[in-house]
Amino acid sequence: MNRTLIALLCLTAVFATRILQHECVHDDIAETFKYDVQDLNLDDDANRRLQGTAPRNIKITYDMSFFNNLNMTDPVNVAFKQNSEKALKVALQYFSDLLTIVPKPAGAMKWNLGPTCGLVTVPDADKTTDKDSDLHLYISYTDEPTKTFLAYAGWCRFLRVLGPSHGTVNFNLGLLRNYQFSNPIVFNDLVQIVTHEITHVLGFSGNDVQYWVNSAKQPHVNPTSVQLIRGLNSTVLQTPNVQAYARQYYGCPNLAGMLFENQGGAGSAGSHWETTVINNEYMNAAISLTQGFFSKFTTSLLRDTGFYSSVNAALEEPTFYGKDAGCTFVTGACDTNKREYCSAGTQKCDYYYYAVSACNPTTFSDVGCNNQQAYSNAKCYEPNGNFQNNPTYIQKLGVGFGQSSRCFISSLSDPTVSINEQGLCYNYTCNSANQVIIQVGSNQVTCSQNNQVVTIPNWRGSLKCPEKLDQFCNYKKVCPNFCSSNGYCDNGVCKCISGFKGADCSQTA
Ligand SMILES: [Zn+2]
Repeated sequence: MNRTLIALLCLTAVFATRILQHECVHDDIAETFKYDVQDLNLDDDANRRLQGTAPRNIKITYDMSFFNNLNMTDPVNVAFKQNSEKALKVALQYFSDLLTIVPKPAGAMKWNLGPTCGLVTVPDADKTTDKDSDLHLYISYTDEPTKTFLAYAGWCRFLRVLGPSHGTVNFNLGLLRNYQFSNPIVFNDLVQIVTHEITHVLGFSGNDVQYWVNSAKQPHVNPTSVQLIRGLNSTVLQTPNVQAYARQYYGCPNLAGMLFENQGGAGSAGSHWETTVINNEYMNAAISLTQGFFSKFTTSLLRDTGFYSSVNAALEEPTFYGKDAGCTFVTGACDTNKREYCSAGTQKCDYYYYAVSACNPTTFSDVGCNNQQAYSNAKCYEPNGNFQNNPTYIQKLGVGFGQSSRCFISSLSDPTVSINEQGLCYNYTCNSANQVIIQVGSNQVTCSQNNQVVTIPNWRGSLKCPEKLDQFCNYKKVCPNFCSSNGYCDNGVCKCISGFKGADCSQTA
């Protein structure tokens, strides 16, 4: 065994770091706050006026005065406040682009409940003055370093048939003070969390299904059912849009609906999508370890709330996990021969080929349904801190990183070393025929068939092409410089918040 090989093996042994996963505590919080739903008694005239009012892009406003309690001589607090507010702004831009809503009738945005919303004391002015807003958020923070949540949210005031009017979002300084927000990928994770939490406020909550309305503004009939699935009692959401999409997506015409998470205790169960049947979704109970997808499952749910005039289908991010996999995929035992699942111990790439990963159970995995879990220091699109980003890997194995790098299962090496098959990061492009051209050092290999095994003349080992090239070429693209923390990423295209412009949102407008 030569010296280089020994060095590689050592590197492989030390790279495995995993981050603390953000787990959402939404249901715990919803249970704690217990706010009442209010009836807005509109007279016929007011009702007619409301019917005739044109929808607008949803206008979500916020109050961060709670943060005035922070000691702003501490730079950590300054960064915490700035990044929390910026993440809110990006998320609110996203929702403004996603949803339209009929503005609530005059006077309906006045606060008329108790002294607080969440941890925030409601200002007197909010009780006497109406707001030009469709949803007003009171933002707070707590300092809870031993908890696993980065943020949580819920509504405080809810108007029957019309939806939430006031809500709260709480950030956990105890964990966020250690976040490196100068890295836009880290900031992007916070945006994803804030977007997830506000989606709960907007109606994505097991407790709120009873308040959703159909097109006749009446509650849905039998919106959920309970089924025993993989040994666990599971709530199935079967409202019209969600049911229709679940049937189409999984290719299961009689499927009752989509599964809510059935594990994780009161904080996570019942108000998230079931991890076993959909991964990397924004509304899974734990944040995606790589790229999250705001899928048509979530937009379908928002449509089924009945609170929004339209939900922008152009922002639905295509997912492929379990797509067309049939009824047994949803309700039967997990088949570890499918790429969605894995056998313990194998180290490969995650389902979407974003990162080097290992097969592990999570809090939310059903029995026998382990997934490939990405390592935090092995995301191919993130060169900084990537364990493969060193001269040995680059020179001997030809790895590459960045926006167009993905994980491929490979044992390719130059003739001086020999390695086991593993997940390696390479840059790639897709051509118009969905062939995948992979850059391995100065060599190019072309995948033109699913699961094809390709080699390089005079190199050792081989590379296994992606299982489905057409899908691989349509996986969500990452954005240039992750939109410089000034926007959200729409399948490789940055959408900048007000004040910023440019392909990566790095210029001030
Ligand atoms: Zn949640």
